[in-house]
Amino acid sequence: KLVTFEGPDGAGKTSALNAIVAELQPRLGDQLVVTREPGGNQISEAIRQIILDRHNTMMDDRTEALLYAAARRQHIIQKILPALRNDQLVLCDRFIDSSIAYQGAGRGIGEQAVYDMNQFATEGLTPDLTLYFDVDAAVGLERIQTHRQNEINRLDVEALSFHHRVQAAYLQLLADHPDRIKRVDASQPLGTVVQQALDIMTKQLPT
Ligand code: C5P
Ligand code: MG
Repeated sequence: KLVTFEGPDGAGKTSALNAIVAELQPRLGDQLVVTREPGGNQISEAIRQIILDRHNTMMDDRTEALLYAAARRQHIIQKILPALRNDQLVLCDRFIDSSIAYQGAGRGIGEQAVYDMNQFATEGLTPDLTLYFDVDAAVGLERIQTHRQNEINRLDVEALSFHHRVQAAYLQLLADHPDRIKRVDASQPLGTVVQQALDIMTKQLPT
C-alpha cells in the first residue's frame, strides 16, 4: 500500500512521519519503506538540484512542474513500484497532491493541467491513503520562522498569498477525494497529531 503525507509548509508532517515510523518499524521491519521525493535515485536527485536553483535560473513555472513530474516518475519506477510489488507499506513525504497545490494553485498553472500532466508521469498510480496535515498557512509559516531559521530565506520569496493558494487547493482536494484523503488536525501537539494519523491508518488500511 502507498500512503502519502501532504500539507502546507510548517504543518509538521515530516516530524509526524518520523514518529509514525518509530511506532511502526518494530512491528513491520522490512515491510516498511519510507521515502520522499526525489527518492534518493541519481536521476531524480539531479533533477531536484535543477529545481532548487530556480531562483538563479529564472525557471519557468511549467518547466518546474515538468521537472517535478519527471523526478516523481523516476522515483516511482525505481523505488515505489518495486516496493508495492513486494507488498511493502510505502510511506511517502509529499506526492502528486503537492504538485497540484504548489505548482497548480501556488504558481497558477491550474490544478487540472498539473493533474493531467502527472497522470502521464504516474500512469495513474494513486495513493491508497493520503494524510492531509491541516494547519492554517500563517500558523505553519510562523512555526517555520520559530524552528527552522534556515528555511526562511527560501520561504520569504513566496508571499503569504502563495501559501494561502496552496492551502485552498489542498482543502479542495480533501473535499473532492474524501475516500482517499483524510484530514489530520495538525494544529494539535505532535503526540496528538501522530495518534490521529496512526488511528486513520489502522482504520483505512486493515491488515
Ligand atoms: O515541506 P517540505 O520540506 O517537504 O517542502 C519543501 C518545499 O518544496 C515546500 O515548502 C515547497 O515550497 C516546495 N515544493 C514545491 N512543489 C512541490 C513540492 C515541494 O514547490 N511539488
Ligand atoms: Mg518537511
